[in-house]
Amino acid sequence: RSIEQDIAHHVHPQTNLRQHAEKGPTIITHGKGVFIYDSEGREIIDGFSGLGCVSLGYHNERLAEAAMRQMNTLPFAPTFYNRSHPRVAELGERLIGMAPGGMNRVMFQCSGSEANDTAIKLIWYANTARGEPQRRKIIGRIRGYHGNTIATVSLSGQPHMHAKFGLPLPEFKHTELPNYYRFHIDGESEEEFSARMARSFEELILREGPDTVAAFFAEPAISGGGALMPPKGYWEEMQAVIRKYGITFLVDEVVCGFGRTGNMWGAETWGLKPDMVSCAKALSAAFFPISALMFKDELYAEMMRNSDEVGLFGHGYTYAGHPVGAAVSLQALDIYDEIDLIGHVRKVSKRFLERCDAMQDHPLVAEVRGVGLFCGFELMRDAKVRIPFDPAWKVGALVQDFAHDRGLYLRAIGDRISFMPPLIINEEEIDLATERFKGALDDAW
Ligand code: PLP
Repeated sequence: RSIEQDIAHHVHPQTNLRQHAEKGPTIITHGKGVFIYDSEGREIIDGFSGLGCVSLGYHNERLAEAAMRQMNTLPFAPTFYNRSHPRVAELGERLIGMAPGGMNRVMFQCSGSEANDTAIKLIWYANTARGEPQRRKIIGRIRGYHGNTIATVSLSGQPHMHAKFGLPLPEFKHTELPNYYRFHIDGESEEEFSARMARSFEELILREGPDTVAAFFAEPAISGGGALMPPKGYWEEMQAVIRKYGITFLVDEVVCGFGRTGNMWGAETWGLKPDMVSCAKALSAAFFPISALMFKDELYAEMMRNSDEVGLFGHGYTYAGHPVGAAVSLQALDIYDEIDLIGHVRKVSKRFLERCDAMQDHPLVAEVRGVGLFCGFELMRDAKVRIPFDPAWKVGALVQDFAHDRGLYLRAIGDRISFMPPLIINEEEIDLATERFKGALDDAW
């Protein structure tokens, strides 16, 4: 019934609509731990944490009880018009206490897209207050991903999300994708490649006019663009350019935040010094849609100045700082501390990365690169001379389908595979998941 109902009426995001109409969807009925179960009774290891968000797996009574308690006490309260409630005030303090350096203000939203969209508006708002209304351009990266509102998808470097929508908007520019394996020149070291990426970024700023460039948004490691870890020296070089031109630096921690890379933040893993940080997904362990944008007092002072002139600060969403989302997030953060989630990720990621690295020998696999519980695989027809399959997407789709048949959910992004299991995964489950992955590679080969 679910399949029939779904085919008849449900239009899916980010889905090949023809395939949905002809094959129908996979219906996920329930989950436990790192396993999900479909309507055909199959048990599948979730190697993609839902969408990179299910940090604590699919069953957690404490999170469910926290939601229930809050629903029974105060199911909704606006944060508009100078109203607040205890849970959201507490969550703000908690997040600021753990944020990467210097953040002191937080705004809540319901999704990563909304957090980044809010950031873009705040940057424009502050620049206008500072008397620099022309400073509007925001730079992202080719294959970077920051969301799906009109502004955040413009900032994302995903051509298929621009095609036929008349996007990107003109204020949004893209600098190069730092994929060393794919784009290095023969004989070029990782450090030299990183320096070239930073030069190209600087050239883009100079071409656009430095006084028109407002901000650079980046994920510490690219997620939606295919689990791409930054090459050696990349962030040092890029941050030198950011500092040189006084550009606002937003670090998008929507995927990397809350332990994915073996530290609380991706910013810690790669020594990033952001002016703003967005987070979502594992903030509530995916049990409730909530996101947060954190920033420094300097930006807040500009917002204050504008508000004094305009009166009302004119931005926000009905469900911003939702009491249930705040209560669930506080509980999730408590659980992260109590089970020492970061320590767990560091411990099991040794096994995870070892097993992933072992797949480097497979004839389909050209490069494996990961950190924490986050790993990307390049699939190539000839790894040595870097000849991709034609069409490239087909090999990724094949591996993804064979993995699914073997009981492992992985995400193919063209001819890259992203593997990022729930953070509570144990070593036995890592062995099982990587065996199934290896089997899928053999099937595809
Ligand atoms: N930023 C990053 C790095 C993401 O991976 C995503 C979603 O996958 C987003 C932002 C957008 O978040 P949401 O889908 O919650 O709007």
